[in-house]
Amino acid sequence: MDTYAWMVRFAELVSADAERLTRLDSAIGDGDHGSNLDRGMRAAAEALSADLPPGKVLMTAGRTLVSKTGGASGPLYGTALRRAGKALGDASEVGAVELGAALRAALEGVQELGKAEEGDKTMVDALAPAVTAYEAAAGEGLAAAARAALDAAEKGAEATVPLQARKGRASYLGPRSVGHQDPGAASTVLLFRALAETAASS
Ligand code: ADP
Ligand code: MG
Repeated sequence: MDTYAWMVRFAELVSADAERLTRLDSAIGDGDHGSNLDRGMRAAAEALSADLPPGKVLMTAGRTLVSKTGGASGPLYGTALRRAGKALGDASEVGAVELGAALRAALEGVQELGKAEEGDKTMVDALAPAVTAYEAAAGEGLAAAARAALDAAEKGAEATVPLQARKGRASYLGPRSVGHQDPGAASTVLLFRALAETAASS
């Protein structure tokens, strides 16, 4: 698994979709999710280099996100990537099983920090089913597992629309948060789209 290509692709997808993410966040937040994550991932992509070991790539991206991304999502994505990188350790090659452990560690990090459960209308609603689907398909190889994770993330993000937010800024809206997709769940889909594309082309 080329984690450098994954992160660069994620940065590209966030950049291309920044306006849509910001529009989603305007409906139930403060309208900065796209610009926040775009700024953070641009900085992360610049801080990375292809010759870093795979785990170090994710740790560096995570550290940059924590320092450069505003809002709640910066520390959450930053923690996710740092934990994933830490799980990979110093390995020079990352296979399907190792990446599964890294994704599980990322989810645990997000939940430790943000205290959100599935159904609270956050990024966890896309991330948790994606990690579970990845693990279930890991025996079929990295590309198949990444594809399954992407499908599950898309379904999870879509399923946030009818939910009422119980965490983060959107929770201040109470019942008025119903009827809109959670922006962090939408950007998590991009993380898995980038992963699926990278895994498919390697
Ligand atoms: P802010 O809400 O501070 O403006 P962003 O707009 O960048 O930050 O990110 C908002 C997203 O962060 C939400 O859509 C949600 O997915 C995610 N989020 C917020 N709080 C939490 C939390 N406690 N746990 C998990 N995700 C959260
Ligand atoms: Mg916001």
